[in-house]
Amino acid sequence: MNNHITLNPDGISIKGCNIIYAPAGQAGEYAPLATNPYRGCGHKCAYCYVPLVLKMKREEFDAGAVERKDFLARLIKDANKYQSIGSREQVMITFSSDPYHPGDTTLTRQTLEVLAEHGLGFCTLTKGGSRSLRDIDLFRPDRDAFASTLTSLDAQFAQKWERGAALPEDRIATLRKFHERGIFTWVSLEPTLDVDASLAIIRATHPFVDLYKIGRVNYLPMTKTTDWADYTRRVVDLCAELSVQHYIKHDLQPYLPSDYPNPVRVQQHH
Ligand code: SF4
Repeated sequence: MNNHITLNPDGISIKGCNIIYAPAGQAGEYAPLATNPYRGCGHKCAYCYVPLVLKMKREEFDAGAVERKDFLARLIKDANKYQSIGSREQVMITFSSDPYHPGDTTLTRQTLEVLAEHGLGFCTLTKGGSRSLRDIDLFRPDRDAFASTLTSLDAQFAQKWERGAALPEDRIATLRKFHERGIFTWVSLEPTLDVDASLAIIRATHPFVDLYKIGRVNYLPMTKTTDWADYTRRVVDLCAELSVQHYIKHDLQPYLPSDYPNPVRVQQHH
């Protein structure tokens, strides 16, 4: 262990690093480490809670992504520390925007390059669909992952809830392309706005998706009108039927059988 570096109690993140950090609470279900190059996002998802977390006005957040001040220099500083302890963890991008938002995403590519140069893995979680293909050459099958959030297969439904994001067809075609390049792919089924839509997504995409992370929705009308116990039962039955790898997120875990195998961390690369 490097003399000047101390790990946090999680045993993964480094004390004092706040650019490459361990996401707290339920965000930690997505990844052990994360980094956030931007604030704001032009995808304008109606259910987005990030403006609340960042204490930004929704109009300002929806106006588009803005690069965080001196992000790249600060990223390199943290990445040097992780490199000095030989960390090979995967870093997720991002919780404060979308890595392939509709604006200039040059910084996303630079971020991936810095992480790889310092021995770290990475995972992008996006609704940007084919915008991400620009960077497909940087993804390494044995280190990195590509993930997309899907709430429906239906374009009109998506346009209502995720006005500025790529259409589901484009997101799905992009997942397939990453899969064909040998990259580990996963899908975030959260928020679940319509349980039948989420089940249909698994049926339609499982041949080229390696893992599903399945959650529910909070703070919207369907929070109360959906039978989450029934959804949990149906979704685990479907995953068993199709033999798909999945993780049931914290909010749905009360509805799982007590002995259900549900590891929060599985290998997210090939
Ligand atoms: S893509 Fe993510 S960060 Fe961007 S508006 Fe939608 S939920 Fe928010």
